[in-house]
Amino acid sequence: MTARIPYLNARLQGYTSTIFSEMSALAVATGSINLGQGFPDTDGPDLIKRSAIRAIEDGHNQYPPLNGISELRSAIASHHKRHNGLDFDPVTEILVTAGATEAIASCLLSLCETGDEVVMFEPYYDSYAACTAMAGAQRRTVPLRAPDWSFEPEALENAITNRTRLILVNTPHNPTGKVFSLAELQVIADVARRHDLIVVTDEVYEHLVYESPHVSLASLPGMAERTITISSAAKTFSVTGWKVGWACARPELIAAIRSAKQFLTYVNAAPFQYAIAEGLNQCDDYLVEATALLREKRDLLAAGLETAGFKVLPSHGTFFLTTDITPLSDEDGHTFCRELAQRCGVVAIPSSAFYDDKASGWHFVRWMFSKRREVLEEAVERLGRRQ
Ligand code: PMP
Ligand code: GLN
Repeated sequence: MTARIPYLNARLQGYTSTIFSEMSALAVATGSINLGQGFPDTDGPDLIKRSAIRAIEDGHNQYPPLNGISELRSAIASHHKRHNGLDFDPVTEILVTAGATEAIASCLLSLCETGDEVVMFEPYYDSYAACTAMAGAQRRTVPLRAPDWSFEPEALENAITNRTRLILVNTPHNPTGKVFSLAELQVIADVARRHDLIVVTDEVYEHLVYESPHVSLASLPGMAERTITISSAAKTFSVTGWKVGWACARPELIAAIRSAKQFLTYVNAAPFQYAIAEGLNQCDDYLVEATALLREKRDLLAAGLETAGFKVLPSHGTFFLTTDITPLSDEDGHTFCRELAQRCGVVAIPSSAFYDDKASGWHFVRWMFSKRREVLEEAVERLGRRQ
């Protein structure tokens, strides 16, 4: 629970600081290697960096259109067609947002009535809970069970009530690295269709998959009309500071979420939109290479953590992997991570931050592996000296 802040309304008490800010500050204070907050330590392809600079020099510095520039919307449409088999009309079915974060916030703020319920899988990305609270809605969680992070179909069914407005899905999944199987996506789709629910699917790690190809929920039968598919340039191109994201859905859903988006940021950074359009159109080869490199880094960190005595759980996607700390410590993950920074100079994220049911998450710790090889090697060496 975060500190109580005077003046802050009741809905947001409990969300006063994020675990990412806390642990990144700890990394700075202790001079630690930061394997906590999810940002890579090398930037994306030169092509898109040059493109952003060129866009500024070419004078793309005023408000872009509310939906996003047409070049980017077309590039998103053809990317979705090529990679995910999804058809979106760039004019009516694509909305560019300030990162996936704003797309998620806009969905929850525009689709939920006060008291509606939002179903999400636990552990869940922290902004889902905060934005559900901002919308005056309630979350209902469906547990993902380690080590494979599977869920009971009955648990999903039981989470649905007559107040359920939408199901929030995240695949590949932060923090676990789980990639929902086709069978699991079919279970979710079946529940959504039978109860006539909207599904918001956060697919920001769509290109960071190591074992099987990414499957978009909207590609399943009967799902295109009820799914909002969210993604972002942040992880795909290693530009987390650019904050270019997008939501794709049928025109009525886009019209609803645009109503919220226009009063949050109105529009977002014009030059970066030109650069990401170019990236989506021209960087398919880069994406394949980047994923192969990340797979090696995942394996390097997993092996190092195992040697250091952690129980490493499988990660099939994202740039995170999860460890069980019980072989090393009786402490909870938060205490463990704070001590680890002091003792070893390495920072990770206690996974309890992603749980309502703290008891289920207390012994898990999340590690981020999109760092230079020598940084991961140094981190592993420091962890080996822990005792
Ligand atoms: N969803 C998930 C699951 C994330 O991990 C993140 C953060 N990396 C976001 C959304 C936010 O993405 P963006 O930086 O594009 O706002
Ligand atoms: N998505 C990133 C993570 O999970 C953090 C982004 C943020 O700090 N909000 O680490």
